Amino acid sequence: MILLPKDISELEKSALSWLHKRGVELEDIAELVFYLQAKYFKDLTMEDCRFNVERVLKKREVQHAILTGIQLDVLAEQNKLAAPIQDIIYRDENMYGIDEVIALSIVNVYGSIGFTSYGYIDKQKPGILKKLNDHESGSVHTFLDDIVGAIAAAASSRLAHSFAGDIPEVTIKSKETDGEKEE
Ligand code: MG
Repeated sequence: MILLPKDISELEKSALSWLHKRGVELEDIAELVFYLQAKYFKDLTMEDCRFNVERVLKKREVQHAILTGIQLDVLAEQNKLAAPIQDIIYRDENMYGIDEVIALSIVNVYGSIGFTSYGYIDKQKPGILKKLNDHESGSVHTFLDDIVGAIAAAASSRLAHSFAGDIPEVTIKSKETDGEKEE
């Protein structure tokens, strides 16, 4: 029997498993957080980054954004959407910005540092974001790339606020639960 943490909901399980199915691991997102925050915190560890990614993924609005965006990517990949949106999402058309709008519902869950980090990482496209943007792969990741960037940006914001003491319950080093409400 696989023992899952008691506090993991069906919705979170589903969101995590879709991320995995679409080639994104928590470690990949933690690496983006490290990329964004290492210059500000010299003792930053990958463990700190991963912890904050996990906390962001506990938010219901984040889980909803993941599940919605990935479904649209998958349907476009299977050619199951109606014209003209099928073609727009399939080709990841430049002027289509709804992928970013969905991502914005994630970016702001931990304050405005997330907003600037999201813009920065979207331009730089490090790590997994470069892979997701490789249109040669035949996969459609029109929504997923923005969602992954947004999770990393929100986790960066959370990390910065917790180091600053704005999330006082958090003890990053000990990985104690921070007692946050999940909604
Ligand atoms: Mg996109």
